[in-house]
Formats: sequence, structure tokens, C-alpha cells
Amino acid sequence: MEPFDEDEMRALICEVGHRIWTREYIAANDGNISVRLSQAEVLATPASVGKGFLKPGDLVVVDLEGNKLRGESRPSSEIRMHTAFYHARSDIRAVVHAHPPTATGFAVAGIPLDRALLPEAVIYLGAVPLVRYGVPGTDELMEDILENFVRDYDAFLLANHGVTTISRTLLDAYHKMEMVEHFAKISLVARQLGRENVFSPARAQELLDARARYGAIARGGCRIEESEDYPETTYAREVPMRPRNPEA
Ligand SMILES: [Zn+2]
Repeated sequence: MEPFDEDEMRALICEVGHRIWTREYIAANDGNISVRLSQAEVLATPASVGKGFLKPGDLVVVDLEGNKLRGESRPSSEIRMHTAFYHARSDIRAVVHAHPPTATGFAVAGIPLDRALLPEAVIYLGAVPLVRYGVPGTDELMEDILENFVRDYDAFLLANHGVTTISRTLLDAYHKMEMVEHFAKISLVARQLGRENVFSPARAQELLDARARYGAIARGGCRIEESEDYPETTYAREVPMRPRNPEA
């Protein structure tokens, strides 16, 4: 594993912390971010510091068990969630955890974001499974993820808690967080308008097949559903024909 430049990663974690706070994905001292610097070291956000105002020197370096190696502050109480991901997935090197309100609303309502509704969401995320609640800061938080989801997905809705995304790079893990919240917002609007037209199994499969071409790392896909309301058929049924040009 090629080590990342530590100064560069310190600056990037501060930048991502600022973005998740600015976009209101967290409140107060919520959320945590980490990068696997090397085989044995993880750079992580400290406990009890607002992620919108992080300075590079606030961050702490821990080992793969979450024990502090360097830094003034105490590591985040959720550091064990991060190290559990690094143990389970040797292909990922960044973890972002936040509580974006719309996606977290789905997590509170017990609704996974796993329907084939938008090409970008299917290609980039596959799906965002809902994982069983576990007390934050304890190993229980990761039980369901480790047992059922960690190998197949890169984004997780933590029931009654929030969202965690993982990737090869910090910027990509952050982009997945943005994508999850954006997908949740669109899903919510469609539900408020009265329905979500899902892609037909053939259309959904087409998007799943495209995932590898776009560099998706996890294999899990969206739910494939039989429905009356495929976009291609509802459009033909419900959108009126264009009025004829009166000049013609
Ligand atoms: Zn949390």
C-alpha cells in the first residue's frame, strides 16, 4: 500500500469537514472523517470539535485498532467504525460519516435507498442499504454492516442514525455522501408527488452493467422490480402529444 502524503491528507480532511458542515450534513460536533495513510496508520478527526472549523493540527493518527499514535486530541468515539471498515475492506482508504437530514430521514423511517430511479445513483452507488441500528461508538454499530453489507456496498444508511460512505479516496467518499443526500432529496420529492416510477428490470440491468465501466468497486446493485409504472411506459401513456403547429 503506497502511503498517502500526510500533510495533503490533513488539509483535505479539513476541506471535507468544512464542506459537510456548510452543506448541513452535520450539526454541532457530529460526524467524523478518516483516511488510511498507510498499512498501519489512520488519520482521523478528533472528538468534540466542529468539523466546519477543523485545523490540520487538530487531527489524530491512530493504529488499525483505534489506539492513538500521534496528536493532541482524543480520537472520535466512532473511530472503531472506521477501523472496522479498514479491516473488512483492504481496497478502501477513506471513510466519511455524517447525518445529512434527508437521507437520515429515510434511515429514521426505515426506508432503504435501493430503488432503480436515477441512472447516476444506480451506476455510482448501486444502492444504499438500510443497516440495523447499533449504539454509536460501540461495536454493535458495525455488526449488521460487517455481517451482511460491507463487501457489496460503499454507502450505508444507519437506521435511526445517519450515513457512512467509503471509497479508495477521500474525495470520492465525500462525493458519495453528496450523492446519497441528493438521491434522498429527489426520492422524497417523487414520493411527495405521489409515486416513484422505477426502471424496468432490463433498464435497471443496463445501468448495473455500466457500473464496472465507471469504476464502481462494490458489486451490490439496486433492487430490481416488476412494476406497472416504468418510466418508458408511463411517459408514452401520460404525456400528451405535442400540439400541431397551427401555421402548418
Ligand atoms: Zn453519527
